Amino acid sequence: ATPFLSVRDLHVRFTTEDGVVKAVDGLSFDLERGRTLGIVGESGSGKSVTNLAVLGLHERRGTEITGTITLDGRELTTAPESALEKLRGNKMAMIFQDSLTALSPYYTVGRQIAEPYRKHTGASRRDARRRAVEMLDKVGIPNAARRVDDYPHQFSGGMRQRAMIAMALVCDPELLIADEPTTALDVTVQAQILDLLKDLQRQTGSAIVLVTHDLGVVAHTVDDLLVMYAGRAVERGPVREVLGAPGHPYTWGLLGSMPRLTSDVDEPLVPIPGAPPSLLTPPPGCPFHPRCAHVAEVGGDRCRTERPELPAGRGAACHLTPGQRRTALAARLAPR
Ligand code: SF4
Ligand code: MG
Repeated sequence: ATPFLSVRDLHVRFTTEDGVVKAVDGLSFDLERGRTLGIVGESGSGKSVTNLAVLGLHERRGTEITGTITLDGRELTTAPESALEKLRGNKMAMIFQDSLTALSPYYTVGRQIAEPYRKHTGASRRDARRRAVEMLDKVGIPNAARRVDDYPHQFSGGMRQRAMIAMALVCDPELLIADEPTTALDVTVQAQILDLLKDLQRQTGSAIVLVTHDLGVVAHTVDDLLVMYAGRAVERGPVREVLGAPGHPYTWGLLGSMPRLTSDVDEPLVPIPGAPPSLLTPPPGCPFHPRCAHVAEVGGDRCRTERPELPAGRGAACHLTPGQRRTALAARLAPR
């Protein structure tokens, strides 16, 4: 059977004054109902662009998309805007990083939750308002019946994020895309929001794509993990396998730059040296080679000339042999 969400060989290119930016460069992944896929990577790795393309919200002018995105068997890349309009907020919905830009300051929170519900279900004003109260209650806003008439600025940051979740979920979407949904929040509220998303998912069976640069967030939240670098997927697999036995030097770097939650001492973070490549002129061969410490182990010019492919299923797009990988990983994990 076709997966619920299926992305195949997706390329997203923007034409700019400086040239063509390959924001997404041959990405494929699947997601089933009731499952959560985490997409991690530094900013500029193509995570957000991918999701905007799924939702059909990318900038149209100067953008070229090739490949396929199917949702429940329906092809989205070629769907007319009117069809996407019917799907957005209804069958698929998005939670953004910043509730201040997603919520309008000029309308009450309740109205902004009720609006998509009215639009997609044709419900009366009265029923839509009742639904808005119900949703605010569901996402844990105390005194929902009263707070429904508040404006966003009357809510705390955490409450606004909850309100945005209520807005996204008001039509019971089957696909929910959450782009850095907790980045702006403190750690306790982050955990509450993620728990809330998981709870709601258990009730509705929706599929969730969770985009984050924070591996700590994904560990307890997602089923599968996709690591992106320079517009490509460089590693994928069940989250426990990817975090437990990461296979790509870039994933090692991401893990190394993560604070150790179990450690008593404040160990310094080990950032990945260098910066992500320009997507105008991506490096030949492996896009990670200018930052990778393992080019010599692979030997010759291979990393600089030959692009490693990501195998289907669990795997990493890297030329290291399994033996070389084990040795390198053991050396990294050895106490300093
Ligand atoms: Fe590093 Fe080469 Fe593997 Fe790329 S292919 S991650 S440069 S070892
Ligand atoms: Mg982003």
